[in-house]
Amino acid sequence: MQIKKLPNAFKEAQQVLQIIEEHGYEAYFVGGSVRDTILKLPLHDVDIATSAYPAEIKQIFVHTVDTGIEHGTVTVLHHGQSFEITTFRTESGYQDYRRPDQVTFVRSLKEDLMRRDFTVNALAMRENGEVIDLFGGISDLQQHIIRAVGNPSERFHEDALRMMRAVRFGSQLDFTIEAQTMAAIKSNSPLLEKIAVERIHVEFVKMLLGIAPLRGLAQMLQTDLLCYVPVLNHHLKQLAVVSELPLARQLENETEVWSWLAVSLDWSVAQIRTTLQAWKSSKQLIADVASVTAASQSLLTDQMTDWQLYQTGATNLQTAAQLLVVLGKPDYSQELARRYETLPIHNKHELAINGKQLMQAGIKPGPQLGQILNQLEQQVVAGAIENEPQQLLDHAQSMK
Ligand code: ATP
Ligand code: MG
Repeated sequence: MQIKKLPNAFKEAQQVLQIIEEHGYEAYFVGGSVRDTILKLPLHDVDIATSAYPAEIKQIFVHTVDTGIEHGTVTVLHHGQSFEITTFRTESGYQDYRRPDQVTFVRSLKEDLMRRDFTVNALAMRENGEVIDLFGGISDLQQHIIRAVGNPSERFHEDALRMMRAVRFGSQLDFTIEAQTMAAIKSNSPLLEKIAVERIHVEFVKMLLGIAPLRGLAQMLQTDLLCYVPVLNHHLKQLAVVSELPLARQLENETEVWSWLAVSLDWSVAQIRTTLQAWKSSKQLIADVASVTAASQSLLTDQMTDWQLYQTGATNLQTAAQLLVVLGKPDYSQELARRYETLPIHNKHELAINGKQLMQAGIKPGPQLGQILNQLEQQVVAGAIENEPQQLLDHAQSMK
């Protein structure tokens, strides 16, 4: 196959490939960028693989950074852009089901492509657009199939994360997983326990952000992969129901993903915290998901109070409104934005009095001061008192 017009993302990189070739080595575009070019999808990152060893790449280019030199990756800075260039390599050992014991640099493109996970990810492309397809990747792209390169069971033994990647690419590309690859996932699913939860997390979220997330979830159930992930393994029955409820549109960000799960499984704030901690999520994500979920649950049942609007904040309110759209409910985003705008204050700092001023007026520092400030904040938000210094002070005095 020959790609006639390469997307612009390859323009500068084409020169880098030419320079490597002028020095007598081979260089190719590999991985996701080749797959997505053939599928006419937008590109994320352009990976380059070469027969030159890292030391040789560093001799060719003036500005380089040793980003992952032990794996053969050197970053080359060329005309103000950076390119990751990785030496062809083979991997062996995989005694822990997740990492090779040994990485060996090789001169052969074929050996490099053989270690890649799926046929659609094992394509290489020359600088002139000629595609090298040694494992039937183009045919699988055309038939919308995810198929392991070589023996699927062996490949999942080498690196069990690949099982999650199969489901992830299936959802992202809306491809089916080939029967033997699927069977090998089912028989090897317990190996997922060997994989760090952070890595499973990345693939799981990418899967749910894909265009076929419900099928991804259903496949994780069918293959038992879901039995080996934290907390969700205790909700298999409910997740089976969730995987059959249609989504009105695609999920758009990670907060939406987890809030969708939390609302669908009717989680409390405590359950959200336990689950997301088990999935090694950031504090910010946990706070956002708790807030969006609570807001969505209120929107689904009754009206939201002004205090809840205020506490949720503009961004999370919009995410909650979008989540309702995903669930096939009306779009409340404009109404919520309007209500939020008309709140008397939008954060603590907008309160017309602060702790220092209260102390000057004779209120002692300590927990009570905090409680009074909190009360004032709530009363102002609820419209019970005006955000005006004297009124706030009078009110504070009456609470002493
Ligand atoms: P994305 O668009 O999500 O970046 P990608 O195909 O570029 O998709 P990456 O995770 O960036 O995926 O990996 C780049 C390439 O490296 C893959 O296309 C594949 O060839 C190879 N690869 C990545 N992870 C693995 C793995 N666990 N096992 C085998 N090959 C892998
Ligand atoms: Mg990539």
